[in-house]
Amino acid sequence: MTEFIRVLDLYAQKRYDEFEMILTQEIKSDRAKAFEFLKYCLQSSGSTKIVTPHELIYYVSPDRFIEIFAFCLPALGLNYKEAERSGISLQHYLLEHLSWQAPGLFHTHLENIWEKSVDELAQAWQDSGEIHHTRLVECLEDESRASEHRQALLRLELSNCVAGFELARQYGKPQDTIWMVVDDEWKNVPNTQGLYLLETAGVEFRDGSWHRLYNTASYHFKFPEEALEAHNSQANEHMKLNDDSWKLTSTADTIRYGGVGSAGCPICERESHHLFTLKTAPAGFDITTPIVFESCLYCMMSSRPMYAHHDDSGRPTIEPSYQVFERTYEPKPLQEMTVSLSQTPDRFYRQEWSGVQNLSRLGGPATWIQGPEHEICPSCNKRMLFLSQLGDGIDYIHTTIYIFWCNSCRISAVLNTYT
Ligand SMILES: [Zn+2]
Ligand SMILES: [Zn+2]
Repeated sequence: MTEFIRVLDLYAQKRYDEFEMILTQEIKSDRAKAFEFLKYCLQSSGSTKIVTPHELIYYVSPDRFIEIFAFCLPALGLNYKEAERSGISLQHYLLEHLSWQAPGLFHTHLENIWEKSVDELAQAWQDSGEIHHTRLVECLEDESRASEHRQALLRLELSNCVAGFELARQYGKPQDTIWMVVDDEWKNVPNTQGLYLLETAGVEFRDGSWHRLYNTASYHFKFPEEALEAHNSQANEHMKLNDDSWKLTSTADTIRYGGVGSAGCPICERESHHLFTLKTAPAGFDITTPIVFESCLYCMMSSRPMYAHHDDSGRPTIEPSYQVFERTYEPKPLQEMTVSLSQTPDRFYRQEWSGVQNLSRLGGPATWIQGPEHEICPSCNKRMLFLSQLGDGIDYIHTTIYIFWCNSCRISAVLNTYT
């Protein structure tokens, strides 16, 4: 305890570097200590006004979530401003993180959160099924509550069940146009195909039934210890990669990651960049391998996908459908290494965006930075499968790279988004 007082004193004295150093080297490195420190801060918050340690939740074992949740209950019906005024902003931040990592804890409290309309906790509806549908429909049928309709529809999507998707389709504004690639150009065309896209849920209504736009099986990339250590020995304290999303149990599957590509970029005529190669599809993936994913980090433009056709051996040919773009920097290829695949832990199945989390993964739902964007295959015009994302980490790419795949046309789309 006296040790914790000493740490918090450093913070109070604005000696942030020392504070971060002790936090990283002594507290974050020990799951039990991380929990005890977080508990101490929760019990003394209001007086300490400390906000920083909310990220400690990523260092705490998930079996302590229920205890942390209990400490945070007073902040449940408050928005951020109200929580701050009551001196419990730490509790509020922790609830936000918990709503992503353990939405089930919130399911018996949905009515309370809905009543107080705390938008920051929308994730609490994730996987809640039909339990709160009646109240959401009541809202959607009430024209005087039109300003809340968008939030109600979002929650129906998040409830993540066909009944919820059907209600969202029924009460959502008729989607009369969709974006499609027509004659090599993106155009807004009439939706004559009865498509219905619920982008937040990652599902689409097509040919009379609902289809997932992501692969439900999910594996995180487990980067080699040496690469992590080399990175951490040079990074600033607050940029070290050491939370639970980096400490995974690997499986036998390994993939080649990074390095220079073989396709070459037809746009800038520089070398292409190898993202990763899938030699075989891991369990739960119905895709035809091998596939070599490449892109040009120099030419990649935010919010415009770069397409590649893949031959039977998986080798890509990048589509020259981009304009030449002059940059003031020359991006280096991703560090070449062998990465192993590790089954995504439940707590990270849906990940919120954060600066130092391991977001690099194969399968599972995407972590969108700027809102969902599911790409359409330029050949068959069907929406592609969201297959993978690569985030910042050992390589600072300052973006998240999203990879989509059309298995019947063997076309990949690589999209990136900046914060
Ligand atoms: Zn290029
Ligand atoms: Zn296609």
